[in-house]
Amino acid sequence: MAKITKGTRKNIGKTWHPELRDKSAGVKTHVYWAMKNCNGNAAQLVLLLDSIVDHYKQDHRNCHQTSRCKNNDYVPSRDIIRDPTAELLLRNSIKNLYIYKHPEKYTHCRDTHHIESYHNTILIHVDKRLHYHNLMYEIKPASSVQHRVQHDHPRRQSGYRVLTPKLYTFTNELWNNFVNLLYHDRNDQIEPDDVENVQVDQNDTIGSEYEDSDDDE
Ligand SMILES: [Zn+2]
Repeated sequence: MAKITKGTRKNIGKTWHPELRDKSAGVKTHVYWAMKNCNGNAAQLVLLLDSIVDHYKQDHRNCHQTSRCKNNDYVPSRDIIRDPTAELLLRNSIKNLYIYKHPEKYTHCRDTHHIESYHNTILIHVDKRLHYHNLMYEIKPASSVQHRVQHDHPRRQSGYRVLTPKLYTFTNELWNNFVNLLYHDRNDQIEPDDVENVQVDQNDTIGSEYEDSDDDE
């Protein structure tokens, strides 16, 4: 699939086509979706796979009733396929997929791409070189969960796609909580229960490395 989405200028229309450069992730998602929605029927699975190219040609007659493109105000999020060469490349590529040739093996599949995509998110947060203390090993996966909850895009990065900015608003909330912890009058602002919850073993935090400098003040 990746082969038809990018290539050299001289191979345009032969091995790849610019109209397909943003299709890789979408096709993949659609294939997973087709497996899930074929009702255990191999012929139905093939029909759903065939509808992928039509969908990108703005022909939604064979698309599923629940699909967003069935709405009148649907705006495609990817380039429309207009060039017959691009259409042919994508059709052939889908027909070459193992799942297209052996649909009966995939009629009961469930996709794993959400969890696989989350593994990518974890890699953003968990550092692979430095050795943190135990608390940091808890904090880092926790921030990857927050990242994931706010930016739920179960898509692999492809060469080109229409991007929406990540907001990271949860970082403000984290920062406010942190500052509150440091500066608020604990007797007034924080219930005894909360204090208990935020206390950590001093020998078990990254902060313990800076204890000496604190003593100088
Ligand atoms: Zn459609």
